[in-house]
Amino acid sequence: MTAPIENASPSIAVLGLGVMGHAMAVNVVRAGLPTVVWNRSPERTRDLVERGALAAGSAAEAARGADIVVTMLTDVDAVLAVAIIHGMLEAMPPGAIWVQMSTIGLGIDHVAQLVAERRPDVTLLDAPVSGSKGPAEAGTLTIFASGPVETRARVAPFFDAIGARTVWVGTTGAGSRVKLVNNTMLALTAEGVASSVALARRLGITTETLQVALDGSPLMSPWAEAKLRRVSHHDYSAQFALALALKDVRLALDALDPNEYLVLRTLADEWQHAVEGGLGDDDVTVVTRVLNQETINAPA
Ligand code: NAP
Repeated sequence: MTAPIENASPSIAVLGLGVMGHAMAVNVVRAGLPTVVWNRSPERTRDLVERGALAAGSAAEAARGADIVVTMLTDVDAVLAVAIIHGMLEAMPPGAIWVQMSTIGLGIDHVAQLVAERRPDVTLLDAPVSGSKGPAEAGTLTIFASGPVETRARVAPFFDAIGARTVWVGTTGAGSRVKLVNNTMLALTAEGVASSVALARRLGITTETLQVALDGSPLMSPWAEAKLRRVSHHDYSAQFALALALKDVRLALDALDPNEYLVLRTLADEWQHAVEGGLGDDDVTVVTRVLNQETINAPA
């Protein structure tokens, strides 16, 4: 394999075609970049092939000819399984870039160590994203990128295809740390919306009245406003699933002393209860139903 040519369109391998990875792969193909896709369950590749991507039979096969290998998988265990057991890391060409975009918290440090030990000729970029299914489909994600400055030009066509904004936040590992902070703010905002709706209801105020009362208030971010609107329509279909949001809260707590951030720990316990009650696949705002003491699993 010759060294990648900086001005040619880089070839991209997207590994992990769940909600996020699939939408990102669609946009990579749409941008005209040569794209190879792989997913553990191969049926997720089918429509991408119709759009012009190549489907690889294994993660190693997908990685073998790629300038940039992207992982968008559930958690750090999945990332390590794909990298090691499925042979992705070993198969990557010398000089290739691994863009790790799954939300894995400080697990990124373990991944960085793995790359340093086994493939020092591969560059790891730590680049989780903010934005859920809608922004992923629209190609308007925010990318918290971190890693060597000299890779920026090479990954720019890929980041431009999937995101509206790339923020370079530091050396490898900084992106995952910013992502933890971002999702802690998200969790506390979601809990704020849910608690406010539940309190209003307990006090005899309808969600619709609350919505009108808070309309235009500086307290309401566009995100909180949109969530409140969905709650008022009893729409808890997943934009960001509660189980994934809880995973991210736990990743933040893992980075802290056990006696710190007790509010966040209580929130995690409350959300765990909701996940165990069968609400994990619903949107994070479904916590409203728990606080409203609606029977879990009953229709909204
Ligand atoms: P998802 O729809 O659940 O997809 C998970 C992907 O990981 C699937 O491709 C799945 O393959 C694969 N996978 C899981 N375990 C695996 C293993 N052991 N070996 C190989 N593949 C495995 O999740 P998502 O919503 O796309 O999220 C992906 C990542 O992005 C997560 O880290 C999430 O926290 C983060 N994120 C999500 C959002 C969001 O709103 N959804 C927003 C920002 C960031 P199968 O199809 O075979 O199961």
